[in-house]
Amino acid sequence: MTTHEIRPDHFRVEPGRRVRLAEWSTDTTDGFDGTKEERAELLAELNERLGDLQQMLYAEAKHKVLVVLQGMDTSGKDGTIKHVFRTINPLGVRVANFKRPNDVELAHDYLWRVHEHAPRDGHITIFNRSHYEDVLVVRVNDLVPAPVWQRRYEHIRGFEQMLADEGTTIIKLFLHISKDEQRARLQERLDNPAKHWKFEHGDIAERAHWDAYTEAYEQAITETSTAAAPWYIIPGDRKWFRNLVVSQLLVEKLEALEMRYPEPIAGIETIRITD
Ligand code: AMP
Ligand code: MG
Repeated sequence: MTTHEIRPDHFRVEPGRRVRLAEWSTDTTDGFDGTKEERAELLAELNERLGDLQQMLYAEAKHKVLVVLQGMDTSGKDGTIKHVFRTINPLGVRVANFKRPNDVELAHDYLWRVHEHAPRDGHITIFNRSHYEDVLVVRVNDLVPAPVWQRRYEHIRGFEQMLADEGTTIIKLFLHISKDEQRARLQERLDNPAKHWKFEHGDIAERAHWDAYTEAYEQAITETSTAAAPWYIIPGDRKWFRNLVVSQLLVEKLEALEMRYPEPIAGIETIRITD
């Protein structure tokens, strides 16, 4: 079947479903058959709609939106932010980048540095990596003993449920690329001087742990895809399709909030600016 429709719900992980990433395509276009021009047009249209919805979110200042971006190295987290949010007014959007924790952060519980970045009313916050690193990189590299990371799924479910109960719409995105695609993207970082800054020695070491990361992601997604905070496994090998799915998903999530501009002050129609 071919279509011009983008259906993010096809990529949603139903709560309780056991995820095996091999069963989720990295390069499907889900039947979408638009030409290159049509894709660009659709993205531009979704960008516009997202910009309008974000404006309303900010004006109404009633809802909070949290987008969690996870994925293997080179999976396109930065690129997604750049292309999906390009029409957004920076006033109402924050990006929180979670890198290796510093000493102060390490001296606290792992959610301490995360919570302060949770969105406020009217805002969209994007977590570029997140508390999930504490059951991913931490697990794969044995940074804490297994019993310590194993109990974190429960904390994370509780933490996210609390945010949701307090008015946060949570959208969790796993950008799903193949190992071959990662090779190509890492090589591109080596070949293109403008991308050298993105390459780290550690990237090769992390790539060697591909299977361990796959297992860690499978368990993390399986354990924490809940009704309040579902995961979406976004096919990531084709950047244009990834951008369309994420954009469409955000538009749908914001539309579901049924937002309205706040009521104007009484008698606004009679006010004239006279000098
Ligand atoms: P990048 O996303 O390329 O800027 O790299 C950020 C790095 O920080 C990645 O290698 C992550 O695995 C690492 N990182 C993020 N959060 C944590 C954490 N909680 N513990 C250890 N490393 C982390
Ligand atoms: Mg990196």
